Amino acid sequence: MSKFMLKLALAAMTIPGAAHAQDLGAELQGDMPALMELYRDLHAHPELSFQEVRTSAKLAARMRKLGFEVTEKVGKTGVVSVLRNGEGPTVLLRADMDGLPVVEQTGLPYASKETAVPESGVTTGVMHACGHDTHMTGFIGAAQLLSRHKDKWSGTLVMVLQPAEEAGGGARAMLADGLYTRFPKPDYALAFHDAAAPAPAGTIGYVPGFALANVDSVDIKVKGVGGHGAYPQSTKDPIVIASAIVMRLQTLVSREKSPFEPAVVTVGSFLAGAKHNIISDEAKLQLTVRSYTDESRKQLLDGIARIARGEAIAAGLEGEMLPVVTVKEDFTPATYNSPEFTLELAARFKERFGEDRVFEAEPVMGGEDFSEYRRADPDSIKAMIFWISGTPQPMLEALKKEGKPLPSLHSPFWAPDAEKVIATGAEALAGAAMHLMPSS
Ligand code: ZN
Ligand code: ZN
Repeated sequence: MSKFMLKLALAAMTIPGAAHAQDLGAELQGDMPALMELYRDLHAHPELSFQEVRTSAKLAARMRKLGFEVTEKVGKTGVVSVLRNGEGPTVLLRADMDGLPVVEQTGLPYASKETAVPESGVTTGVMHACGHDTHMTGFIGAAQLLSRHKDKWSGTLVMVLQPAEEAGGGARAMLADGLYTRFPKPDYALAFHDAAAPAPAGTIGYVPGFALANVDSVDIKVKGVGGHGAYPQSTKDPIVIASAIVMRLQTLVSREKSPFEPAVVTVGSFLAGAKHNIISDEAKLQLTVRSYTDESRKQLLDGIARIARGEAIAAGLEGEMLPVVTVKEDFTPATYNSPEFTLELAARFKERFGEDRVFEAEPVMGGEDFSEYRRADPDSIKAMIFWISGTPQPMLEALKKEGKPLPSLHSPFWAPDAEKVIATGAEALAGAAMHLMPSS
């Protein structure tokens, strides 16, 4: 146990956990009606990545009223709110603000009717289908508790409203815009995400170590020599070459990686050709590539380039005719929850919410750019993102009785039990922050 962790453990002993927990929980009940009103408003007015103008202005005004020093337009539409409250560590709490290009089908009275134009240029419906509206509301709930009880903690609180989690560049944009130089750099970073989990709403899941994966997008342009479909001898068919590439890519995970190292290579798009009897001169593949460690990521990306090149050479292509492999810049690094820190906070959550509401969850191959906050200085920042189940009780019962699957996040039908997620999120964030910044 490090010196600091020891200090934390001692601090935990001096704060009577249970009594303290009841205080926050009971107080939150009084805040919930107003918070649910805010939630319904945010839910009805989602905005796409880097377009969170209404959302950020509305929440910045709230933070200002609570006494935070608020700076807007950090990383395009991000908001940083700082509350300096004496000596002690710096804790960063983060909520993401963006919705998704999904047409809402929940039938809720406050369902979104908003539309917007994403990068593709085609107008779409917009929905908070990932639950970022619950994150923002829980975040405001925590800000209220922490600003009201400055006597219960000592340190610096940095609350970050981040744009563009879904598009993947929001955290990076805020860091590039001086999040750790213009504002106090955190010792700890915390966030929560709602989950469509087979557990009652309000249940907390934690994952020590790698929780979410490195996410890379890769484009492969396979070149060929086009011609008449009846005369293949005078062509180099890029569809056959690209098909061979797709098949051999399957061996990267199954034959080249250790079975104990998680990795995914998915070809999500294969575009080529226009007509039955024409051999195309080009095929395009789009891949998503998932891994945990930097080494594993490099092995996969190098392997993809090697296989694309190798299959083209096998087909008789060379030089400028070899495939062009592009790793896109929108890389999201794997989310690593500092293990000791995560277990320490999980123990505090168990005290606060009870053993049956807190469990260790499985890591997944999804991605989250919360990873960036620790990765910016991994030696000095400890970070943890935790899950809060939002699965409504009737959905959970249908799952148990009829085996009906749960709608996943990003589904047009995802209607979480927002009240449970928000109350749990607000109390968990505020409680954790108070624990990390003890008042004496
Ligand atoms: Zn999402
Ligand atoms: Zn999300």
